[in-house]
Amino acid sequence: MMATEPVVDLVTACKALAARGCDTGIGGHVSLRDPERNEFWINCFDRTLGEMTVSDVVKLDYLGNNVLNDRVVSPGWEFHAGIYAQRPDVNAIVHTHGFWVTALASLNRPLRMRHNLCTLFYEDQVMSPDDSFDSIGAALGQASTIIIPWHGAITVGRSIGRAAALHATLEDMAKLDVTLDQSEAPELPEEARLPLRKLIDEVACYLEQTWTLMIRQADRYNP
Ligand SMILES: [Zn+2]
Repeated sequence: MMATEPVVDLVTACKALAARGCDTGIGGHVSLRDPERNEFWINCFDRTLGEMTVSDVVKLDYLGNNVLNDRVVSPGWEFHAGIYAQRPDVNAIVHTHGFWVTALASLNRPLRMRHNLCTLFYEDQVMSPDDSFDSIGAALGQASTIIIPWHGAITVGRSIGRAAALHATLEDMAKLDVTLDQSEAPELPEEARLPLRKLIDEVACYLEQTWTLMIRQADRYNP
């Protein structure tokens, strides 16, 4: 197939997420909305994130029909279609079973605010009751991150860079948080959280910087 820009971006995100420790075998998907029609690109099911190439990308309509090729996708395609239909502001979705993201999900609680980068998730993370889209869609609301208990997490963004960078940051922060789970480590004071978030996201443009880092990491990644 011809590698269009969205497809190349999607493969870059898959490889970069692998480079950031989110590649845990079969499963995990990255999707990108086609702004022209009710369709989205998504990686196929039978390759790991780190193995992904442009020929492993499929395109689905919102009913799950593959309009590009005959590759098989994860049954999780459904929540991608549901989120795109429900959230016009979302153009990209990342779901992984990154080890630390999953460890956090297995504690069945949200990320605690134990690092300044955790504020990227402050008042913007929710828990899903279970793995079905009915639950995920209803719980997600306007949030950017949803933790699926005993499973993994989903991050969404207005761009693939933001959704992927948020996910990689969640993996890092989950590692810190789960490591400190049994400790008395305090959380950031409430009043510091929103100003820090504004500084990190809007002034420092941390997620955009992290995406450019991830592009370099994808480039160097060898499974
Ligand atoms: Zn999953």
